[in-house]
Amino acid sequence: MKHRSAIDRKITSKWSNQTQLVRAGSMRSNFDEMGEALFLTSAFAYETAEEAEARFDGRSEGFTYSRQTNPTVSMFEERMALIEGADIGRATATGMAAMTAALLCQLKAGDHVLGARALFGSCRWLMDELLPRYGIETTVIDGTDIDAWKNGVQSNTKVLFLETPANPTLEIVDLKAVADIAHENGAKLVVDNVFATPILQKPMDFGADIVCYSTTKHIDGQGRCLGGMILTDHAFDEEFLYPFYRHTGCAMSPFNAWIMLKGLETLGLRVNAMCDNAEQIAANISDKLDDVRHPSLTTFRDRDLAAQQMTRGGTMIAFELPGGRDQAFKFMNSLEIVDISNNLGEARSIATHPWSTTHKALQEDARLELGITPGLIRFSCGLEDGDDLVNDVMQALEKAGL
Ligand SMILES: *Cc1c(COP(=O)(O)O)cnc(C)c1O
Repeated sequence: MKHRSAIDRKITSKWSNQTQLVRAGSMRSNFDEMGEALFLTSAFAYETAEEAEARFDGRSEGFTYSRQTNPTVSMFEERMALIEGADIGRATATGMAAMTAALLCQLKAGDHVLGARALFGSCRWLMDELLPRYGIETTVIDGTDIDAWKNGVQSNTKVLFLETPANPTLEIVDLKAVADIAHENGAKLVVDNVFATPILQKPMDFGADIVCYSTTKHIDGQGRCLGGMILTDHAFDEEFLYPFYRHTGCAMSPFNAWIMLKGLETLGLRVNAMCDNAEQIAANISDKLDDVRHPSLTTFRDRDLAAQQMTRGGTMIAFELPGGRDQAFKFMNSLEIVDISNNLGEARSIATHPWSTTHKALQEDARLELGITPGLIRFSCGLEDGDDLVNDVMQALEKAGL
Protein backbone atom coordinates (compact mmCIF):
# COMPACT_ATOMS: atom_id res chain seq x y z
CA MET A 1 0.00 0.00 0.00
CA LYS A 2 1.57 3.27 -1.09
CA HIS A 3 1.04 6.07 1.34
CA ARG A 4 0.32 9.16 -0.68
CA SER A 5 -0.42 12.75 0.28
CA ALA A 6 -4.11 11.89 0.83
CA ILE A 7 -3.27 10.21 4.15
CA ASP A 8 -0.61 12.66 5.35
CA ARG A 9 -2.42 14.76 7.98
CA LYS A 10 0.11 17.55 7.54
CA ILE A 11 -1.39 17.97 4.06
CA THR A 12 -5.01 16.81 4.38
CA SER A 13 -5.80 18.84 7.50
CA LYS A 14 -5.16 22.02 5.50
CA TRP A 15 -7.77 21.09 2.88
CA SER A 16 -11.30 22.45 3.06
CA ASN A 17 -14.09 19.99 3.86
CA GLN A 18 -15.15 19.75 0.23
CA THR A 19 -11.69 18.57 -0.86
CA GLN A 20 -11.48 16.21 2.11
CA LEU A 21 -14.86 14.66 1.18
CA VAL A 22 -13.49 13.72 -2.24
CA ARG A 23 -9.88 12.82 -1.47
CA ALA A 24 -8.87 12.56 2.18
CA GLY A 25 -7.84 9.14 3.43
CA SER A 26 -7.41 7.55 -0.02
CA MET A 27 -4.63 4.97 -0.19
CA ARG A 28 -3.46 3.54 -3.49
CA SER A 29 -2.24 0.02 -4.05
CA ASN A 30 0.61 -0.85 -6.43
CA PHE A 31 -1.86 -0.75 -9.33
CA ASP A 32 -2.30 3.04 -8.95
CA GLU A 33 -6.09 2.83 -9.18
CA MET A 34 -8.06 6.13 -9.16
CA GLY A 35 -11.12 4.77 -7.35
CA GLU A 36 -10.61 3.44 -3.82
CA ALA A 37 -9.92 -0.31 -3.88
CA LEU A 38 -12.37 -2.70 -2.25
CA PHE A 39 -10.42 -5.14 -0.05
CA LEU A 40 -12.77 -8.06 0.48
CA THR A 41 -10.51 -10.05 2.75
CA SER A 42 -10.97 -11.30 6.29
CA ALA A 43 -7.29 -11.68 7.15
CA PHE A 44 -3.82 -10.65 5.93
CA ALA A 45 -0.69 -12.71 5.27
CA TYR A 46 2.84 -12.10 6.53
CA GLU A 47 6.11 -12.59 4.64
CA THR A 48 7.69 -14.27 7.69
CA ALA A 49 6.78 -15.49 11.15
CA GLU A 50 8.88 -12.64 12.55
CA GLU A 51 6.75 -10.16 10.61
CA ALA A 52 3.54 -11.71 12.00
CA GLU A 53 4.97 -11.34 15.52
CA ALA A 54 5.93 -7.71 14.86
CA ARG A 55 2.46 -6.82 13.56
CA PHE A 56 0.80 -8.37 16.59
CA ASP A 57 3.19 -6.43 18.86
CA GLY A 58 2.38 -3.22 17.01
CA ARG A 59 6.07 -2.80 16.10
CA SER A 60 5.29 -3.18 12.43
CA GLU A 61 2.55 -1.17 10.75
CA GLY A 62 0.01 -3.09 8.73
CA PHE A 63 -3.20 -5.03 8.83
CA THR A 64 -3.90 -8.30 10.65
CA TYR A 65 -7.64 -9.04 10.61
CA SER A 66 -10.67 -7.15 9.30
CA ARG A 67 -12.56 -7.26 12.61
CA GLN A 68 -9.93 -4.72 13.72
CA THR A 69 -8.85 -2.82 10.63
CA ASN A 70 -9.16 -3.20 6.86
CA PRO A 71 -7.71 -0.86 4.20
CA THR A 72 -11.09 0.09 2.66
CA VAL A 73 -12.64 0.66 6.09
CA SER A 74 -9.56 2.64 7.22
CA MET A 75 -9.93 4.98 4.23
CA PHE A 76 -13.53 5.70 5.25
CA GLU A 77 -12.55 6.19 8.90
CA GLU A 78 -9.73 8.59 8.05
CA ARG A 79 -11.93 10.64 5.70
CA MET A 80 -14.68 10.95 8.33
CA ALA A 81 -12.15 11.90 11.05
CA LEU A 82 -10.75 14.67 8.85
CA ILE A 83 -14.20 16.09 8.08
CA GLU A 84 -15.23 16.03 11.73
CA GLY A 85 -11.93 17.36 13.05
CA ALA A 86 -11.42 14.23 15.20
CA ASP A 87 -8.20 12.29 15.82
CA ILE A 88 -9.73 8.99 14.82
CA GLY A 89 -12.86 7.22 13.56
CA ARG A 90 -14.08 3.65 14.04
CA ALA A 91 -16.62 2.42 11.49
CA THR A 92 -19.38 0.09 12.69
CA ALA A 93 -21.90 -2.25 11.09
CA THR A 94 -24.88 0.04 11.85
CA GLY A 95 -25.63 3.34 13.52
CA MET A 96 -26.95 1.53 16.58
CA ALA A 97 -23.69 -0.45 16.84
CA ALA A 98 -21.91 2.93 16.98
CA MET A 99 -24.21 4.34 19.69
CA THR A 100 -24.03 1.13 21.76
CA ALA A 101 -20.23 0.86 21.51
CA ALA A 102 -19.70 4.56 22.27
CA LEU A 103 -21.66 4.19 25.51
CA LEU A 104 -20.79 0.66 26.68
CA CYS A 105 -17.04 0.88 26.00
CA GLN A 106 -16.61 3.44 28.78
CA LEU A 107 -19.25 2.33 31.31
CA LYS A 108 -19.38 -0.20 34.13
CA ALA A 109 -21.90 -1.21 36.80
CA GLY A 110 -22.45 1.62 39.27
CA ASP A 111 -21.93 4.40 36.70
CA HIS A 112 -24.67 6.85 35.71
CA VAL A 113 -25.65 8.20 32.27
CA LEU A 114 -27.67 11.39 31.89
CA GLY A 115 -29.46 11.72 28.56
CA ALA A 116 -31.88 13.95 26.73
CA ARG A 117 -35.30 12.30 26.54
CA ALA A 118 -35.70 13.18 22.84
CA LEU A 119 -33.49 10.45 21.39
CA PHE A 120 -33.82 8.08 18.45
CA GLY A 121 -36.17 5.22 19.49
CA SER A 122 -33.44 2.56 19.82
CA CYS A 123 -31.17 4.98 21.73
CA ARG A 124 -34.02 5.43 24.22
CA TRP A 125 -34.16 1.62 24.51
CA LEU A 126 -30.44 1.56 25.38
CA MET A 127 -31.07 4.16 28.09
CA ASP A 128 -34.34 2.75 29.43
CA GLU A 129 -33.79 -1.01 29.07
CA LEU A 130 -30.27 -2.21 28.24
CA LEU A 131 -27.94 -0.14 30.43
CA PRO A 132 -29.99 -0.61 33.64
CA ARG A 133 -29.85 -4.40 33.07
CA TYR A 134 -26.07 -4.20 33.56
CA GLY A 135 -26.29 -2.07 36.69
CA ILE A 136 -25.72 1.22 34.89
CA GLU A 137 -28.06 3.91 36.19
CA THR A 138 -29.74 6.17 33.63
CA THR A 139 -31.89 9.31 33.75
CA VAL A 140 -33.57 11.11 30.85
CA ILE A 141 -34.44 14.81 31.02
CA ASP A 142 -35.71 17.59 28.80
CA GLY A 143 -32.53 18.30 26.80
CA THR A 144 -33.51 21.90 26.08
CA ASP A 145 -33.56 22.70 29.84
CA ILE A 146 -29.98 23.51 30.92
CA ASP A 147 -30.93 23.49 34.62
CA ALA A 148 -32.22 19.95 34.19
CA TRP A 149 -28.74 18.90 32.94
CA LYS A 150 -27.06 20.71 35.89
CA ASN A 151 -29.42 19.20 38.43
CA GLY A 152 -29.34 15.76 36.84
CA VAL A 153 -25.58 15.23 37.21
CA GLN A 154 -24.63 12.86 40.04
CA SER A 155 -21.27 11.98 41.61
CA ASN A 156 -21.22 8.76 39.50
CA THR A 157 -22.24 10.42 36.19
CA LYS A 158 -19.78 9.35 33.49
CA VAL A 159 -21.62 10.21 30.26
CA LEU A 160 -24.00 12.88 28.98
CA PHE A 161 -25.82 11.76 25.81
CA LEU A 162 -27.90 13.84 23.38
CA GLU A 163 -29.07 14.38 19.85
CA THR A 164 -29.56 17.82 18.20
CA PRO A 165 -31.69 18.51 16.22
CA ALA A 166 -33.60 15.71 17.91
CA ASN A 167 -35.58 13.02 16.14
CA PRO A 168 -38.40 13.60 15.24
CA THR A 169 -39.40 16.96 16.78
CA LEU A 170 -36.26 18.96 15.85
CA GLU A 171 -35.64 20.22 19.39
CA ILE A 172 -32.27 22.00 19.60
CA VAL A 173 -29.94 21.33 22.53
CA ASP A 174 -27.23 23.83 23.52
CA LEU A 175 -24.06 21.82 22.81
CA LYS A 176 -21.59 24.16 24.50
CA ALA A 177 -23.63 24.51 27.68
CA VAL A 178 -24.04 20.73 28.03
CA ALA A 179 -20.37 20.06 27.16
CA ASP A 180 -19.31 22.49 29.91
CA ILE A 181 -21.53 20.74 32.44
CA ALA A 182 -20.07 17.38 31.42
CA HIS A 183 -16.49 18.56 31.76
CA GLU A 184 -17.04 20.38 35.08
CA ASN A 185 -18.18 17.00 36.42
CA GLY A 186 -15.50 14.83 34.84
CA ALA A 187 -17.97 13.25 32.39
CA LYS A 188 -17.84 12.80 28.61
CA LEU A 189 -20.37 14.25 26.16
CA VAL A 190 -21.56 11.82 23.47
CA VAL A 191 -23.51 13.41 20.57
CA ASP A 192 -25.64 11.58 17.99
CA ASN A 193 -25.18 13.98 15.04
CA VAL A 194 -27.25 12.12 12.44
CA PHE A 195 -29.87 14.81 11.75
CA ALA A 196 -27.34 17.62 11.36
CA THR A 197 -24.67 15.72 9.36
CA PRO A 198 -20.98 16.73 9.56
CA ILE A 199 -21.70 19.23 6.77
CA LEU A 200 -24.00 21.40 8.91
CA GLN A 201 -22.78 20.92 12.48
CA LYS A 202 -19.49 19.97 14.18
CA PRO A 203 -20.26 19.10 17.81
CA MET A 204 -16.55 18.86 18.70
CA ASP A 205 -16.20 22.61 18.04
CA PHE A 206 -18.60 23.09 20.98
CA GLY A 207 -16.84 20.59 23.24
CA ALA A 208 -18.32 17.16 22.41
CA ASP A 209 -15.90 14.31 23.23
CA ILE A 210 -17.45 11.61 21.07
CA VAL A 211 -19.58 12.12 17.94
CA CYS A 212 -21.59 9.24 16.46
CA TYR A 213 -23.36 8.70 13.15
CA SER A 214 -25.70 6.33 11.50
CA THR A 215 -23.98 6.47 8.10
CA THR A 216 -27.05 4.63 6.78
CA LYS A 217 -28.64 8.07 6.50
CA HIS A 218 -27.12 11.06 4.63
CA ILE A 219 -23.62 9.57 4.31
CA ASP A 220 -24.68 6.63 2.18
CA GLY A 221 -27.52 8.89 1.15
CA GLN A 222 -28.87 6.56 -1.49
CA GLY A 223 -30.62 4.00 0.69
CA ARG A 224 -28.25 1.11 -0.09
CA CYS A 225 -26.62 -0.12 3.09
CA LEU A 226 -26.31 0.25 6.84
CA GLY A 227 -23.36 1.68 8.70
CA GLY A 228 -22.17 3.70 11.67
CA MET A 229 -19.19 5.78 12.80
CA ILE A 230 -17.67 6.77 16.15
CA LEU A 231 -15.31 9.76 16.16
CA THR A 232 -13.10 10.73 19.09
CA ASP A 233 -9.57 11.53 20.30
CA HIS A 234 -6.59 9.16 20.55
CA ALA A 235 -6.63 8.91 24.34
CA PHE A 236 -10.29 7.81 24.50
CA ASP A 237 -9.82 5.44 21.58
CA GLU A 238 -6.79 3.77 23.14
CA GLU A 239 -8.21 3.41 26.64
CA PHE A 240 -11.85 2.59 25.90
CA LEU A 241 -13.05 2.43 22.33
CA TYR A 242 -10.56 0.35 20.36
CA PRO A 243 -10.33 -2.52 22.90
CA PHE A 244 -14.16 -2.75 22.94
CA TYR A 245 -14.42 -2.41 19.16
CA ARG A 246 -11.84 -5.06 18.24
CA HIS A 247 -13.01 -7.66 20.76
CA THR A 248 -16.79 -7.31 20.43
CA GLY A 249 -16.89 -7.38 16.62
CA CYS A 250 -19.03 -4.40 15.65
CA ALA A 251 -16.84 -3.61 12.60
CA MET A 252 -18.18 -2.37 9.25
CA SER A 253 -17.90 -4.62 6.21
CA PRO A 254 -15.34 -3.43 3.60
CA PHE A 255 -18.06 -3.44 0.95
CA ASN A 256 -20.21 -1.04 2.96
CA ALA A 257 -17.19 1.17 3.68
CA TRP A 258 -16.54 1.37 -0.07
CA ILE A 259 -20.16 2.47 -0.66
CA MET A 260 -19.82 5.07 2.12
CA LEU A 261 -16.62 6.45 0.56
CA LYS A 262 -18.56 7.01 -2.67
CA GLY A 263 -21.33 8.64 -0.65
CA LEU A 264 -18.94 11.09 1.00
CA GLU A 265 -17.77 12.44 -2.38
CA THR A 266 -21.20 14.00 -2.94
CA LEU A 267 -22.32 14.52 0.68
CA GLY A 268 -21.85 18.30 0.67
CA LEU A 269 -23.68 18.77 -2.63
CA ARG A 270 -26.53 16.50 -1.59
CA VAL A 271 -27.04 17.93 1.89
CA ASN A 272 -27.11 21.48 0.56
CA ALA A 273 -29.59 20.57 -2.20
CA MET A 274 -31.77 18.79 0.38
CA CYS A 275 -31.62 21.87 2.64
CA ASP A 276 -32.81 24.00 -0.33
CA ASN A 277 -35.80 21.69 -0.73
CA ALA A 278 -36.50 21.67 3.01
CA GLU A 279 -36.52 25.48 3.15
CA GLN A 280 -38.85 25.70 0.15
CA ILE A 281 -41.30 23.08 1.43
CA ALA A 282 -41.32 24.45 5.01
CA ALA A 283 -42.02 27.98 3.76
CA ASN A 284 -44.89 26.79 1.54
CA ILE A 285 -46.69 24.54 4.00
CA SER A 286 -46.43 27.21 6.71
CA ASP A 287 -49.20 29.05 4.83
CA LYS A 288 -51.54 26.11 5.46
CA LEU A 289 -50.41 24.72 8.81
CA ASP A 290 -49.87 26.39 12.19
CA ASP A 291 -47.23 24.03 13.50
CA VAL A 292 -44.37 23.55 11.03
CA ARG A 293 -40.89 23.04 12.42
CA HIS A 294 -37.71 23.82 10.50
CA PRO A 295 -34.82 26.00 11.75
CA SER A 296 -35.10 28.26 8.67
CA LEU A 297 -38.57 29.47 9.71
CA THR A 298 -38.87 32.70 11.74
CA THR A 299 -41.44 30.88 13.90
CA PHE A 300 -38.96 28.14 14.90
CA ARG A 301 -38.61 28.12 18.68
CA ASP A 302 -34.82 27.60 18.89
CA ARG A 303 -33.93 29.57 15.78
CA ASP A 304 -31.01 31.54 17.30
CA LEU A 305 -29.42 28.53 18.95
CA ALA A 306 -29.77 26.50 15.73
CA ALA A 307 -28.08 29.34 13.82
CA GLN A 308 -25.16 29.34 16.29
CA GLN A 309 -24.57 25.60 16.01
CA MET A 310 -25.57 24.78 12.44
CA THR A 311 -24.61 26.39 9.15
CA ARG A 312 -28.08 25.64 7.71
CA GLY A 313 -31.42 24.36 9.01
CA GLY A 314 -31.06 20.78 7.83
CA THR A 315 -32.84 18.31 5.62
CA MET A 316 -35.69 17.34 7.97
CA ILE A 317 -39.05 19.02 8.63
CA ALA A 318 -41.66 18.14 11.25
CA PHE A 319 -45.28 19.27 11.06
CA GLU A 320 -48.51 18.69 12.85
CA LEU A 321 -51.82 17.95 11.13
CA PRO A 322 -54.65 19.23 13.34
CA GLY A 323 -56.91 16.28 12.47
CA GLY A 324 -54.65 13.73 14.22
CA ARG A 325 -53.93 10.19 13.02
CA ASP A 326 -56.74 9.95 10.44
CA GLN A 327 -55.70 13.17 8.74
CA ALA A 328 -52.00 12.22 8.92
CA PHE A 329 -52.75 8.86 7.26
CA LYS A 330 -54.95 10.49 4.60
CA PHE A 331 -52.13 12.94 3.85
CA MET A 332 -49.50 10.20 3.56
CA ASN A 333 -51.72 7.98 1.43
CA SER A 334 -52.34 10.90 -0.96
CA LEU A 335 -48.66 11.56 -1.71
CA GLU A 336 -47.76 10.74 -5.32
CA ILE A 337 -43.98 11.27 -5.33
CA VAL A 338 -42.93 11.06 -1.69
CA ASP A 339 -42.61 7.57 -0.18
CA ILE A 340 -44.03 6.37 3.11
CA SER A 341 -40.99 4.89 4.87
CA ASN A 342 -38.90 5.20 8.01
CA ASN A 343 -35.44 5.91 6.63
CA LEU A 344 -34.17 9.47 6.27
CA GLY A 345 -31.42 11.45 4.58
CA GLU A 346 -31.64 9.68 1.24
CA ALA A 347 -32.17 10.86 -2.34
CA ARG A 348 -35.89 10.01 -2.19
CA SER A 349 -38.15 12.17 -0.05
CA ILE A 350 -39.84 10.25 2.76
CA ALA A 351 -42.84 10.88 5.01
CA THR A 352 -42.91 9.09 8.38
CA HIS A 353 -45.61 8.84 11.03
CA PRO A 354 -43.50 8.51 14.22
CA TRP A 355 -46.53 7.85 16.49
CA SER A 356 -47.38 4.56 14.79
CA THR A 357 -43.90 3.43 13.62
CA THR A 358 -40.47 4.66 14.81
CA HIS A 359 -41.61 5.67 18.31
CA LYS A 360 -44.40 3.15 18.86
CA ALA A 361 -42.25 1.27 21.41
CA LEU A 362 -42.50 4.22 23.82
CA GLN A 363 -45.49 4.45 26.16
CA GLU A 364 -48.21 6.85 25.02
CA ASP A 365 -47.45 9.44 27.71
CA ALA A 366 -43.70 9.28 26.94
CA ARG A 367 -44.51 9.97 23.27
CA LEU A 368 -46.75 12.91 24.16
CA GLU A 369 -44.08 14.28 26.53
CA LEU A 370 -41.70 14.33 23.54
CA GLY A 371 -44.21 16.17 21.37
CA ILE A 372 -44.90 13.05 19.31
CA THR A 373 -48.63 13.35 18.70
CA PRO A 374 -50.90 11.27 16.44
CA GLY A 375 -50.92 14.16 13.92
CA LEU A 376 -47.13 14.60 13.67
CA ILE A 377 -45.38 13.97 10.33
CA ARG A 378 -41.59 13.69 10.00
CA PHE A 379 -40.52 14.65 6.51
CA SER A 380 -37.08 13.83 5.06
CA CYS A 381 -36.40 16.08 2.06
CA GLY A 382 -34.73 14.31 -0.85
CA LEU A 383 -33.12 15.38 -4.08
CA GLU A 384 -36.17 15.58 -6.34
CA ASP A 385 -37.11 18.94 -7.91
CA GLY A 386 -38.22 21.39 -5.21
CA ASP A 387 -41.31 22.60 -7.10
CA ASP A 388 -42.45 19.00 -7.71
CA LEU A 389 -42.12 18.25 -4.01
CA VAL A 390 -44.03 21.37 -2.96
CA ASN A 391 -46.82 20.51 -5.41
CA ASP A 392 -46.98 16.92 -4.17
CA VAL A 393 -47.16 17.94 -0.50
CA MET A 394 -49.73 20.70 -1.19
CA GLN A 395 -52.05 18.41 -3.18
CA ALA A 396 -51.81 15.73 -0.47
CA LEU A 397 -52.65 18.31 2.25
CA GLU A 398 -55.64 19.38 0.17
CA LYS A 399 -56.84 15.78 -0.22
CA ALA A 400 -56.52 15.44 3.55
CA GLY A 401 -58.91 18.36 3.90
CA LEU A 402 -56.45 21.21 4.47
C1 LIG B 1 -31.09 5.89 12.10
C2 LIG B 1 -30.62 6.52 13.34
C3 LIG B 1 -29.88 5.80 14.28
C4 LIG B 1 -29.57 4.31 14.12
O1 LIG B 1 -28.87 4.00 12.96
P1 LIG B 1 -28.98 2.58 12.19
O2 LIG B 1 -28.00 2.73 11.09
O3 LIG B 1 -30.39 2.45 11.72
O4 LIG B 1 -28.62 1.52 13.17
C5 LIG B 1 -29.46 6.46 15.41
N1 LIG B 1 -29.75 7.76 15.63
C6 LIG B 1 -30.46 8.48 14.73
C7 LIG B 1 -30.74 9.90 15.02
C8 LIG B 1 -30.92 7.89 13.56
O5 LIG B 1 -31.63 8.61 12.69
